[in-house]
Order: sequence, then structure tokens, then C-alpha cells
Amino acid sequence: MSYMINKSKIAKVKLKRDLTKKINQGNPWVFQDALQDIPQVTPGTICKLLDRKNKVAAFGYIYPESQLTFRVLCIKDKVPNDEIIKQRLDLAYEARMPLISKDSNSYRLSNGEGDQLPGLVIDVFNKVAVLQLDGPGPFGFYDRFAIGKYLKEKLALDCVYFKARHNSGQTSEILAGVLNSSQVEFLEYGARFSCDVIDGQKTGFFLDQRENRYLIRKYAKNLDVLNMFSYTGGFSINAGLGGAKSVTSVDIAKPATENAKLNWELNKLSQDHFAVAENCFDFIEKSLKEEKKWDLIIVDPPSFAPSKKSLDKAIHSYEKIFSESLRLCQENGYFAASSCSSHIDTEMFLEICKNAMSKARKRGKVLYIGAQGFDHAYPLALTEMRYLKFVLFKLF
Ligand code: SAH
Repeated sequence: MSYMINKSKIAKVKLKRDLTKKINQGNPWVFQDALQDIPQVTPGTICKLLDRKNKVAAFGYIYPESQLTFRVLCIKDKVPNDEIIKQRLDLAYEARMPLISKDSNSYRLSNGEGDQLPGLVIDVFNKVAVLQLDGPGPFGFYDRFAIGKYLKEKLALDCVYFKARHNSGQTSEILAGVLNSSQVEFLEYGARFSCDVIDGQKTGFFLDQRENRYLIRKYAKNLDVLNMFSYTGGFSINAGLGGAKSVTSVDIAKPATENAKLNWELNKLSQDHFAVAENCFDFIEKSLKEEKKWDLIIVDPPSFAPSKKSLDKAIHSYEKIFSESLRLCQENGYFAASSCSSHIDTEMFLEICKNAMSKARKRGKVLYIGAQGFDHAYPLALTEMRYLKFVLFKLF
């Protein structure tokens, strides 16, 4: 058995607030203000969590400098070890397999807390897995090389690549195997994609929209489709495969629109595809002046609310981008709005959409409310991880 975690002396920390019920329900997050006697140990040190009566409530790892100070690995007095981590990787894999096939060989294998592997994200793109660690805590706790080696063997992969998070001070590197090219090809419901695992955003591709992209495929027939914040054209390719008359993809990042063109070619689509590298707000302004209209518009902006503090501003930004995009939508057209901000729940999001509709003097009926795909599991007791909203409207 190879190691899965870095060995450390076990530290201890005590609860100031009674969070044992929450922890027993499966919420793994303990913030600094709920703790006392925080030990000054290196990030990722294994730590025992004591309740207010000094009984062991859980074991986890600690990152003393962070607001999110302690993340639970095992409740009660079970001590985390290599075997437990291996079992959890196996369980995560098992939970994905029923929906994985020859036609869909891309999936999130571990969604961190959602798979009881806090801070460990692994996306699989055919024969390449990309691993990310969410901060110094998980970076110190997991033995990423051992996990890479285990996954390579278990899934018969060519490569497991560690992708450093933006501005994290971590270094990207190969953990196991060989990466023949930074562009990796894979399938999602039969659609062919290529993503850049080294220079692309996040792990290279946003797997979380898979079900929503597939839905767009079914609605796109004979329509002129506009995909705003398209990244590498996930929704665009699906619209093309569904028989769209034309597709326009707009993203501020030129490498993303170039990759969207490549994906269009990979699928041998023959309709017009216009890939525009431009700020969506400028694109809308220009299109309004030119009186252009589309039959189906998808708007999937980046998170405008990275924190609770920025919520008011974010709500305003979402309303603005949705209402302006709605002005480009044909009468009786389709409009899909999405948000990946965990600080906005579905009710709040529908309210934002309602306000955007009134601003644009439109009315919509809800055809479908979607979320992140099955491979982005989250604990029932940690609703913060249920972050993706996707609503398809038909205008009336
Ligand atoms: N729908 C995509 C994911 C979108 S992620 C998919 O299915 O894969 C959000 C995208 O918004 C990123 O690609 C980012 O480059 C882009 N972006 C951020 N700000 C932008 C802006 N002002 N105008 C256009 N694109 C922007």
C-alpha cells in the first residue's frame, strides 16, 4: 500500500462552539471563530478536534492561518490513514461509473468535500487526470505523488498532472506517467472536446455544466444560437450537434475562442461558427446597435460574487448582463442564464432573472432548472457546495 497522506504528529484543537451535530451530519467545515487553542503547526497537519467536554468529535487536518481552519476527515475517534483515503478514492470512482461510457469519458472523479476528500479535486479527461489542491492545508496533507501513482494504475491513465491553483505559490508538475501534449481530447455525451490542461482555465474544462450543455443540444435545432462567456465552446458544440443554424461564441480570452474553433472542427460541424474574442458587454453594445438578434442565448458568466461581502454588487452585475443579453433575444426565443456563485441560491437567482426580464421588458416561462452534474457531489449538510444554477426560459 503506497502512502496517500503526508505523515505528521497529531495536533489537537478545541471547539469553542458546539458544532458536533453539524459535524455528525456531514458538514466538514470548522471556521476559526468556532475554535480555541489553535496550535501553530504547518498547514495540513493531522489534528484531533475536541468538543467542549474534551471528547473527540473528529479528526481532520488543520491550516491555522486560514479562516477555514479545520476540515473534517473522519468523525468521532477514527484516525485518518492511507487506507481510508484509498477507500474514498475507490468510492468516488464507483459513484461516477454508472454514468460513464465509451461516449462520455470525462468526469470529475473527486469533488473534494463532496467525496470526503476535502480540498482534493480530480478531473479525468479520457487518459489524463488533472489534480488540484485547494490551498496549503490540502497541499500539506495529501501525498499528491502517491495519489497520482495510484490513480494512474487504477484507471490505466497515461498521465496524472498536478495543476497549481492561480496565485497559490504551488508549482504545476507531472505526478505520474507522461503528458504527450497539453491538449487532451475527450468525449462528453458523444461530443468531442480538446482542452489545454496546462494553460487552460481551472483544470482545463468546466465539467460541471455537462447536463445543461446536453439539454441545449436538444433545443438548438434550426436556431441561431449565441453563447456568451463561451470559454472553449462547451454549449456551442452541443448546439451545433443539435442542428443549430449558426452558433456565435463570445469570450474575452482569445485562447478560449481559438480552442472553441478547434472543438468545432473536431466535431466536423458544417454550419457557421463565429468565435469572437471580446468582452461580452462590448459585444452586446455593438450587436444592439446593429440590431442583431438570436433565437437561443446562453449566458454563463464567471462568479461575480466570490465572497458574501461582494453580494450586492454581484446581484447588480448579474441583472445587468442578463437584461442586456435579453435584448438580443428574438420574440418567443429561448434564454438560458447561469451562475456559479455559491453565495446566490436558486430562489435568489430566479429573483435576479425576474428583475433582468423586467428591465429588458420581457417575460419568461421556466422550462428547466438545472444544477451541477452528478459528478460534482456535495454533502447534504454543506449546501455551500451546491453552487451551480442554470435556468432555461422561453420568452412569451
Ligand atoms: N460556459 C463555459 C464556461 C464559462 S466560464 C463552458 O461551458 O465551458 C466563464 C468564462 O467567462 C471564462 O472563459 C472567461 O474567460 C470568460 N469571461 C470573463 N469575463 C468576461 C467578459 N467580461 N467578457 C467575456 N468573457 C468573459
